[in-house]
Parts: sequence; C-alpha cells; structure tokens
Amino acid sequence: PAILRDTVVDSPTVRWSDIGGLDDVKAALEEAVVWPIRHKDSFRSLRVPAARGVILAGPPGSGKTLLARGLAGESGLNFVGVRPTRILSQFLGEAERAVAELFAKARQAAPAILFFDEFDALARRRTGQDAVLDRIVGQLLVEMDGLSPNDDVVVLAATNRPNAIDPALLRPGRIDHVLTVPLPDAAARRAILDVHFQSRSVEEGVDLSALVGATDGFSGADLASLAQSAARQALRRHLSGSDLAAAPAIGAADIDAALVALRRRA
Ligand code: ATP
Repeated sequence: PAILRDTVVDSPTVRWSDIGGLDDVKAALEEAVVWPIRHKDSFRSLRVPAARGVILAGPPGSGKTLLARGLAGESGLNFVGVRPTRILSQFLGEAERAVAELFAKARQAAPAILFFDEFDALARRRTGQDAVLDRIVGQLLVEMDGLSPNDDVVVLAATNRPNAIDPALLRPGRIDHVLTVPLPDAAARRAILDVHFQSRSVEEGVDLSALVGATDGFSGADLASLAQSAARQALRRHLSGSDLAAAPAIGAADIDAALVALRRRA
C-alpha cells in the first residue's frame, strides 16, 4: 500500500529537557516502553508482564506527539509515525493490509516505537455499522497479539477521546496502560515557557513569571505559539525600527501583544 512510502522511520532528536512539566508521564513512559526493551532479562526473571502498548490520553496540544518523540530521542529507540488518515484513505481491504505492513515495518526498524496519532480515528469502538473500520480494529488486535517481547516494538497511541477506542484493544496484554497527559498547571506552564523563551533572545528584565498567571488554561501548544508570536512581533518591531544595528530581542510589549492576539483567536 501507498502508505508505507510516506510512513516515516526516524530518530527524533527531542530530549526530555525540550518538554516542560509532565515529569510523571515521562517516568511512566520510560518504565512502560523502554524498560521492557532494555531490561528484558529482569522482566523475565521477575515474571513481570511487559505492555505491548501505551495510550497517551489528553486534550489537543498537550504534548502527546512531543512526548512520543522525546521518548524515542531519550532512549535511542527508532520512531515509526503513523497518521490514521493515511490508512483510512486506502482502498477497501488495503487498509487492513496497510496495518499489517506497518507492524512489519516497525519490526524491521526495531527496537522501535510505533506511534499512532489520533488513534481513536483508526481504533474506533466497533459498532457493526462500518465494516471497513471494524476490520481495521480486528487487524490491530491480530497485530497487537502477534507482537512478542523479542520483537522490541512497543505501540504508543495518542488520543483525546480514549473512550471512543474499542475496549478489546485496551485489555491486559494489549494496550493496557492509559497515561493521562493533562493541561499544564502553573509550574508546568513556567517550565514550558522557559523551553520556548530560553531558546530566543529576550530583553533583560522581562519577567516570565508574570505570564504564568495570565496563561491559565493554555495548552503547551498555546504557549509555544505565544512565544513564537511574541518573537514575530519583536522581529517586526526590529525591522521597522531605525536601529537595525541593535540586536533584536523580545520585549514585554511584544509578549503583551502576542497574548492579546492569541486570546482574540481563541
Ligand atoms: P494533538 O492532540 O493536537 O495532536 P498533541 O498533544 O500531540 O496535540 P503536540 O503536537 O505534542 O500536542 O504539541 C504541539 C506543540 O506544542 C509541540 O510541538 C510543542 O512546540 C508544544 N508543546 C506542547 N506541550 C509542550 C511541553 N510540555 N513543553 C514544550 N512544548 C510543548
């Protein structure tokens, strides 16, 4: 199927330090995904069953894809990323074959994380209404059950609708961990703001802690776009100003303007 041509196998360079907050989720991911691959003997001798897959459940922009890539970056596992829309756009019957071949591809790339974004689109609870979708879920079950510890492939699936996923996939031995990826609290927002502002020049005296209170309810993606939009404001101000010799930097007014623009859009 065509999907295999544009399914990426790569080695992400994202590190945990690029991801603000979410310390519990990072630790749980290492335990559920990396330990079974790197410490197989210990799992065997203690007879601890290893997960074949983990779900990352959380609202849009909470960092699920970033966590999956960060896990690969930290652990050195390969990353096979899947977009369900690509599978669903296959011809009838081809979709099942595409699922089978994806798992085969992940085995070839082992040790690897097989990452499904928007997993609910692919693994939707079977209703008998849509034969193609139902058969895709059936194929996912077959493939999950076919993964052995020696394959060194773990499935990571992101969703913002965990309840929409077919419950058979969530049984023990399949994707039996559901990790919640929450919106950031104040401390996590501070950490995320640091990630996105520390990599940019900021005027001296700009106090990011004031931003923490002003961004209650923002997702990590919102905070990333806030920083980017403030940087763009700074760039505009710099290039339309008279002192092009000075180094451009983000100022408090740029941040305020970005905040207003982002609130207007929401
Ligand atoms: P969706 O459900 O919409 O796919 P998601 O949960 O997968 O969203 P990501 O795609 O991982 O979210 O996040 C989008 C962007 O937001 C990231 O590329 C990153 O720039 C920023 N971001 C999100 N969470 C964090 C975080 N905890 N630390 C730093 N940046 C973050």
